[in-house]
Amino acid sequence: MPSYVIAGASLAGAKAAETLRDEGFDGGIVLIGSESERPYERPPLSKGYLLGSDPRDSVYVHAAGWYAENGVDLREGVTVTAIDRSARTVAISSGAQVSYDRLLLATGASPRRLNFPGSDREEVLYLRTVDDSDRLRSAFQPGTRVVVAGAGWIGLETAAAARTAECAVTVLEPQSGALTDQLGPELGAVFADLHRAHGVEFRFGEKAVEFRPGLVITSGGAEIPADLLVVGIGAAPNDDLAARAGLETGNGVLTDEALRTSDPDIFAAGDVANSFHPLLGRRVRVEHWANALNGGPAAARSMLGQAVRYDPVPYFYSDQYDLGMECAGLPSPGTYDQVLYRGDRDALEFIAFWLSGGVVVAGMNVNVWDVSDDIQALIRAARPVDPARLTNPDIPLTDL
Ligand SMILES: Cc1cc2nc3c(=O)[nH]c(=O)nc-3n(C[C@H](O)[C@H](O)[C@H](O)COP(=O)(O)OP(=O)(O)OC[C@H]3O[C@@H](n4cnc5c(N)ncnc54)[C@H](O)[C@@H]3O)c2cc1C
Repeated sequence: MPSYVIAGASLAGAKAAETLRDEGFDGGIVLIGSESERPYERPPLSKGYLLGSDPRDSVYVHAAGWYAENGVDLREGVTVTAIDRSARTVAISSGAQVSYDRLLLATGASPRRLNFPGSDREEVLYLRTVDDSDRLRSAFQPGTRVVVAGAGWIGLETAAAARTAECAVTVLEPQSGALTDQLGPELGAVFADLHRAHGVEFRFGEKAVEFRPGLVITSGGAEIPADLLVVGIGAAPNDDLAARAGLETGNGVLTDEALRTSDPDIFAAGDVANSFHPLLGRRVRVEHWANALNGGPAAARSMLGQAVRYDPVPYFYSDQYDLGMECAGLPSPGTYDQVLYRGDRDALEFIAFWLSGGVVVAGMNVNVWDVSDDIQALIRAARPVDPARLTNPDIPLTDL
């Protein structure tokens, strides 16, 4: 009976295990995760769970009994420390070896850390795990002075949660605007304005260089009163295990479009995978929930020998204050030459389209719903659109 091992027990790993069973695989499945917690989803950790509105039970991928009921040997609090590709075994933190016929790497990503005087103090907090979210939630009390390092998604969602808890919030960002790498300056400004309207202060062009009790010192020499410094400066793929085993890596574990690594018996999915994307014609590493949700199952089918062409339009969502949005595509600067709007940008009820050469390459619906599939179809179609029709809300997106 073959045995499949999954390293990393979070969304990608748990969904891969589920798909293996759904597809009729009746061999062994060992799902190994470093965290002492069964697989859970991270988006609520900076939203409803952090705000206290989503209960703990709502974050888990499966009910507690699901793993045993489905013959999935879930090993919590266990780390895969090495892969022996010739013996087809992985070493785990207890010192034991686990044999595999096929191995999935779903080890995700870890927050980039700050390293400066005071950065190891307990008031300097990160947000990746449910424990991190618990810690932030109890620290966010009315009047707490919170400095956030980084105006990316984690930084801004954390800022929104802190403001909702009536903390005083300052966001430091070395770039000239919010979400610049993620959305470009035009749409990044929409989010910065939203936060300003909720009382967040931004200091662009500045980063934290020192933490002293009660104070964050910035690169511009400013001293900002702070009870907490929350760090949201991006994440790095947990690809060291793969690199040490001689697999091809580079900003993640390199895979083909079937999520197979340079070893045909080893696969990678989720945040750790840097996969060839047939639609985009290049490799991408996507740190989005939907990529773990769909990539884990795609890798599982590939492990079973099915023909897989994993090419979803990248999809991301965020909730901040009363703004809910979905973004399809990867609208980073340099990938587009025009931004067009359908709807009311000032009233925060609109769709933004990023175009390159007249072709929609990304789209974001803000407080407008049930259109993401149509936006994704437009991106997939990759043909020029008439700007007047694109921006006219009376014309269905499906008629463009
Ligand atoms: C606070 C927060 C909010 C987010 N919000 C959104 C959102 O709103 N929308 C969105 O699209 N995306 C969001 N994301 C991103 C999304 O959660 C990730 O893309 C997703 O969690 C990736 O899943 P994964 O299974 O690939 O990896 P991860 O969730 O990183 O899980 C990897 C797991 O593997 C374990 N592991 C690592 N190395 C080993 C090893 N050697 N042995 C065993 N186990 C190991 C880790 O401990 C971890 O549990 C958010 C992320 C965070 C942190």
